[in-house]
Amino acid sequence: MKEISRIAAGVQASTTLKVDALFKQMKADGKDVVGFGAGEPDFDTPDNIKEAAYKAIRDGQTKYTPFNGIPALRQAVVDRLQADCGVSYTPNQIIVASGAKHNIYVALQVLLDPGDEVILPAPYWVTYAEAIRMAGGVPIVIVAPESADFKITASQLDAAVTAKTKLFIFNNPSNPTGMLYNEDELRALADVCIKHDLYVLSDEIYYKLLYDDKKFTSFASLSDDIKERTIIVNGVSKTYAMTGWRIGYTASSAKLAEVMGNYLSHATSAPSTISQIAAVEALNGPQDGVEEMRKVFEARRDYIYERINAIPGISCRKPDGAFYVMMNIEKLIGKTLGGVEIKNSDDFSLSFLENGLVALVSCAGFGIDNFLRLTYAASMETIKEGMDRLERFVGR
Ligand code: PMP
Ligand code: GLU
Repeated sequence: MKEISRIAAGVQASTTLKVDALFKQMKADGKDVVGFGAGEPDFDTPDNIKEAAYKAIRDGQTKYTPFNGIPALRQAVVDRLQADCGVSYTPNQIIVASGAKHNIYVALQVLLDPGDEVILPAPYWVTYAEAIRMAGGVPIVIVAPESADFKITASQLDAAVTAKTKLFIFNNPSNPTGMLYNEDELRALADVCIKHDLYVLSDEIYYKLLYDDKKFTSFASLSDDIKERTIIVNGVSKTYAMTGWRIGYTASSAKLAEVMGNYLSHATSAPSTISQIAAVEALNGPQDGVEEMRKVFEARRDYIYERINAIPGISCRKPDGAFYVMMNIEKLIGKTLGGVEIKNSDDFSLSFLENGLVALVSCAGFGIDNFLRLTYAASMETIKEGMDRLERFVGR
């Protein structure tokens, strides 16, 4: 038999989703396992959003929609971006797809030619690196150390640019670090992007989940020049606890939106009609549920931060947003935990899952070692139990 595509054969399965599948399988097998793996809000989708979906089905709204999304949803996105981020778009600049992950995939397919370089700060969300390669691009990874709060500087970005650089991709606030770039830091990065004529993919999906009164600045809001070269990625999964509905969106130049729409018209057409109608309600309806969830996440972040830093041998920085925390296990390297010699973060995560019955994500797949990502998108009860198990496991 002839070989399958070299690009496809090289794609690694998502480590976050792999951990999640393993965790769910162990649970189904009757094991008392605690999960801090895949990051998805543990809250249910609010009732007003569900009602909009029931109504859509009852009203017979069950047909295809325009391939770039229903006009009401693209208008709702425009209104929300204006209200929350102070950026003005028109509906023809908005593309709706089947989850923000799908939007990222399409954006990369549309922007990259084989061999184009994409600058990617590590630690990064695992999907970026693979989606860049799936589009024939080459990820150029620059490491943002913990000592810099996992944020790159403008001079690091500048030094990584070559004649082949097409795009800079980043996530603010960040999965996996939870750190937030402030406006000054963003402006410095934006200057480099303009100087070298780069596109920017700014994934802002956690923009509503910020703590300690931190203020969010959308990359596109910095100037008209930066807005023209920026693709904002966002969606309803995190903000409205709608991960299973699969609705994401981009805002970009009208030209890029047109090409992404053409691409989608062959790839998938529009996402589920029912989900799009539910997303209109999410974006246009009452927003108080978002603030309630944010407060709960903030209390959990405070708790998990205190507990991790109280355990000898491990530590973490206090995240500004999202629902992740990066646990530093450098001091445990060389120790034996759960009968396994810990040489790296993969060893720790496997031994902790098998012998401590807690699922978390090794950051090897995020471009750095000796860190584990925990999500606090889990109930306080689960977090307490997980922290107790962590204390016992590390204390062995
Ligand atoms: N971007 C980031 C940084 C994420 O963590 C996620 C979560 N899966 C996504 C995009 C995609 O979200 P979704 O496809 O559910 O909209
Ligand atoms: N974004 C979440 C995470 O990083 C969900 C899983 C995924 O899609 O990667 O855990």
